[in-house]
Amino acid sequence: MAYSDDTESNIIVPTKWYEKLPRLVWGDYEKVDQPDQWFEVYKLTDTVYAIYEDGQFEEVISYLVLGEEKAVIIDTGNGIGDIKAVVDGITDLPVMVLNTHTHGDHIGGNHQFDEVLVYETEFSKERAKNGQTREQMGHYLNEDMVWKALPDYLDVEAWRIHPFNVTKWLKEGDIIDLGGRTLDVIHTPGHSPDSICILDRMNKIFWTGDSFYPAPIYIYAPTTSLDQFIESFRKITALIPEYEWVMPSHNEPKMEKHLIKECYEAAISIRDGTAGEYSEGVAGGIQIHRYDYGRFSLIVRAER
Ligand SMILES: [Zn+2]
Repeated sequence: MAYSDDTESNIIVPTKWYEKLPRLVWGDYEKVDQPDQWFEVYKLTDTVYAIYEDGQFEEVISYLVLGEEKAVIIDTGNGIGDIKAVVDGITDLPVMVLNTHTHGDHIGGNHQFDEVLVYETEFSKERAKNGQTREQMGHYLNEDMVWKALPDYLDVEAWRIHPFNVTKWLKEGDIIDLGGRTLDVIHTPGHSPDSICILDRMNKIFWTGDSFYPAPIYIYAPTTSLDQFIESFRKITALIPEYEWVMPSHNEPKMEKHLIKECYEAAISIRDGTAGEYSEGVAGGIQIHRYDYGRFSLIVRAER
């Protein structure tokens, strides 16, 4: 997600959004005891952990994925909590950051790690160089966006998204070898120019970043593209036989894979003007239309 303006519409941030927490699905997984109350950590499989920031509206999820020789942390959250300490408490393996894209809510802890892998675009290069100021992150830490106590160690006034050093710029088709486990990089622009999905063919796991999650998916900012989103979904719909477990970057750690195809078809019908009803609003100064499909929604620019 991640937007940057204080004119947010309540079709995006519903009042008292936190009353629906905890989401029941998390009860299916083993909760890992760890001292930092900002994070909820769950062991999803023997080698995949979800690091979930349920205290902030974005409900961002970072995933720690262990190979035999190395590990990756898929995104690093909001930069509110000390995610590096959580990771160090789980594994002794060398850990690289692998970003699904460079919106602020996915790169907040990047600066804490020595190795960072990001898909190469002008957008991500600018983001790595400058991070995001507190102003650019909008009302992220405002009362209506955060229900949990912020960590004691956080300097609230100084909070921002720090610049970070990229050690490897990724390209379409790159394969990351963790020893006994490989991750395929699949470029899926649409939500952002640098969005990727990540496929673990051996374990049939598919990380979708913000291309797909169980909430309104943002395809309205100036750097988004509905046409690219559709083309990206054409690619990942074709890959459905390769994965069983869809792990999105917000809200819940498991989604039904048939929804990928439904989202593809929904996006096409929006483009073609056959999608039917929508609600209207303004976000970031942009007129938006929101289409609801039960498990997910799509928010697009009214003017396309
Ligand atoms: Zn996000």
